[in-house]
Amino acid sequence: MTRQTTLARPVTTRGIGVHSGQSVRLAIKPAAPGTGILFVRTDLATAPAIPARGSQVVDTRLATTLAAGPARVSTVEHLLAALAGVGIDNAIVEVDAAEIPIMDGSAAPWVTLLAAAGRTELDAPRRTLVVDRAIALCEGDKTIVVEPAGRLEVRYEIAFGHAAIPAQTLEIALDPARFAAEIAPARTFGFLAEVEALKARGLARGGSLDNAVVIGPDRILNPEGLRFADEFVRHKTLDLVGDLALLGLPLRGRVTVTRGGHHLHTALVEAIAAQPAAWHLEGQPAPARVPGRGLGAIRVEPAFA
Ligand SMILES: [Zn+2]
Repeated sequence: MTRQTTLARPVTTRGIGVHSGQSVRLAIKPAAPGTGILFVRTDLATAPAIPARGSQVVDTRLATTLAAGPARVSTVEHLLAALAGVGIDNAIVEVDAAEIPIMDGSAAPWVTLLAAAGRTELDAPRRTLVVDRAIALCEGDKTIVVEPAGRLEVRYEIAFGHAAIPAQTLEIALDPARFAAEIAPARTFGFLAEVEALKARGLARGGSLDNAVVIGPDRILNPEGLRFADEFVRHKTLDLVGDLALLGLPLRGRVTVTRGGHHLHTALVEAIAAQPAAWHLEGQPAPARVPGRGLGAIRVEPAFA
């Protein structure tokens, strides 16, 4: 039996919110089996909890934003990707602002923090959502498909038609080691013109070359350059892993995305939740079976079998 996991000990960190530009304190704490990932807004009077589930998604325009009633938490995807990527099933994330800190724009600082926390197994079976039938969604020239596979596999294609970002394709079978080494360090990115437009609207106040790859008209503006030649498609894969974590349990299947983003990723989470005939849960305690009388000599016609 594969068991559910949580952190061995709590950890804390600080960072800035990319949109508010304000300092945010965050703690990640161990949690009981079946908790999943739960965000808690410690700055609000009742310390409301916001489950990391697809049903709580309220905005996907700049980042993935979750809400429970009036309480919101945004930019959850890189931390959720790190938790799912290294195999943490249950954790309580306490945050004293409406934004998860952006750190360096990647999931690497979260992977480092989670490594410091350690991982422990709980006395409960881990459930996995196993895809049995394909589900495909499209939105203009953007597509996302999930289909059966023996493990979690991703194929991601991007094509922005921009001189500084060539079309890129990444194909990867994800496990904790490959996630940490090949996906987590890839940083978020934005086009200079869009970053300036956001700043003019009072957004992206904390955004800088320290926490994003910024693309000018014909080149990357970061003096240190890229961490991977195909850092952009790796970051899109990171975002996908974070958004798929909103299923609330690990996924076994192959996900193929063309020109995706948070909107399409979270739409797939919703479509999976809405189509229980397309998957089953592994690790679920077997339902009690009612002993049948047996069919004896009666032959079952294939149409009714
Ligand atoms: Zn991202």
